[in-house]
Amino acid sequence: MTTPRIEVDLTKIRQNARKLVDCLAPLGISVVGVTKGVCGHPEIARAMLDGGVTVLGDARVSNVERMRTAGITSPIVLIRTPMLSQVDRIVPTCGTSLNTDFGVIEALSNAARRAGCIHRVILMTEMGDEREGLSPSAMRDIAQRMMGLAGVSLAGIGSNFSCLTGRTPPPMAMHALSRLAATIERDCGIPMRIVSGGNSANLASLLGGVRPERINQLRLGEAILLGRDPLTHQPIDGLATDAFTLVAEVIESTMDAPTSLRRSPGSSASQRSARIRGGKSLIALGDQDTDTRGLSFQDGLTRQGSTSDHLILRTMHSPLVVGSEVQFQPSYSALMRAMSATDIAVEVSNTHDMVRSSSQRKSHLDLERA
Ligand SMILES: *Cc1c(COP(=O)(O)O)cnc(C)c1O
Repeated sequence: MTTPRIEVDLTKIRQNARKLVDCLAPLGISVVGVTKGVCGHPEIARAMLDGGVTVLGDARVSNVERMRTAGITSPIVLIRTPMLSQVDRIVPTCGTSLNTDFGVIEALSNAARRAGCIHRVILMTEMGDEREGLSPSAMRDIAQRMMGLAGVSLAGIGSNFSCLTGRTPPPMAMHALSRLAATIERDCGIPMRIVSGGNSANLASLLGGVRPERINQLRLGEAILLGRDPLTHQPIDGLATDAFTLVAEVIESTMDAPTSLRRSPGSSASQRSARIRGGKSLIALGDQDTDTRGLSFQDGLTRQGSTSDHLILRTMHSPLVVGSEVQFQPSYSALMRAMSATDIAVEVSNTHDMVRSSSQRKSHLDLERA
């Protein structure tokens, strides 16, 4: 098999999507499956759809085009505000986009008229993430000006929390988004069909009992793909955290120099022997391939450093054999970079579907409570 490679277990992605869809549905919240972390990989996108996600979202039109070319016909939302230079690619491939600029919406309107279709717009508001979004008054203003534009329709509003600040979305801000939907409806007379309440960082509050009335959509990437809360990096109960495994090859191994045999006062026999058997290994995987700081290692290995093309590991036990493979669990940023690296093969497979009894499901408290 090729190394380096990323092994993808589609079953786990499908099951994660299914569980999130099932526990958010009773709250009236639908899930947009966000594919930017896997560069719009079509089979992974399909696993999300098979898990019950009905809409996909990606930040880049190139990823969306990749999914369309592979035959994916589900609705796709562009979750980054469109580039003016790309509107003619966006309109035919994405039915909806998240927006913050009236000039861009005008350009989308012109592109949609040229293409003879209607493009749906979700206006994004700033709720303390300091990244993207309109103030509530600017949003009302754009909503009103949009009524004069052909080719675009205002489908709703949304917000993005915690991406930049890394702070837990305050429940107050989520309630504020919910109230803003009602205000815009009243002031502009347009129904806000979609109130897109955020990303994986919002899950914990919503599953923990925060109930902003109007929020009816979440855009989930990390929770589906890695089964983790992006803020705490803790596993979400009931979700698989090992759908992705990065595999790379050992290209050099050295034992520690014999100086470590020296008996230092206070060190136990086992510490000494651990030091004796320790060493250093070079892995053919570097910063050009992934975020090497975002990898977790099997027991007995620690990261010593990295270069563009090497990862240097300390081995606590016997040295790794040259030519053998080492497995890593990637963080979201490590995954994103690995999936877009030209040197890393992506190998998808399906594990045998586990039949989960309802009693097993009950043990997953967080998902049950929802
Ligand atoms: C990346 C992104 C998401 C998904 O975030 P996750 O933390 O992966 O769930 C949602 N919305 C927007 C606008 C994004 O850029």
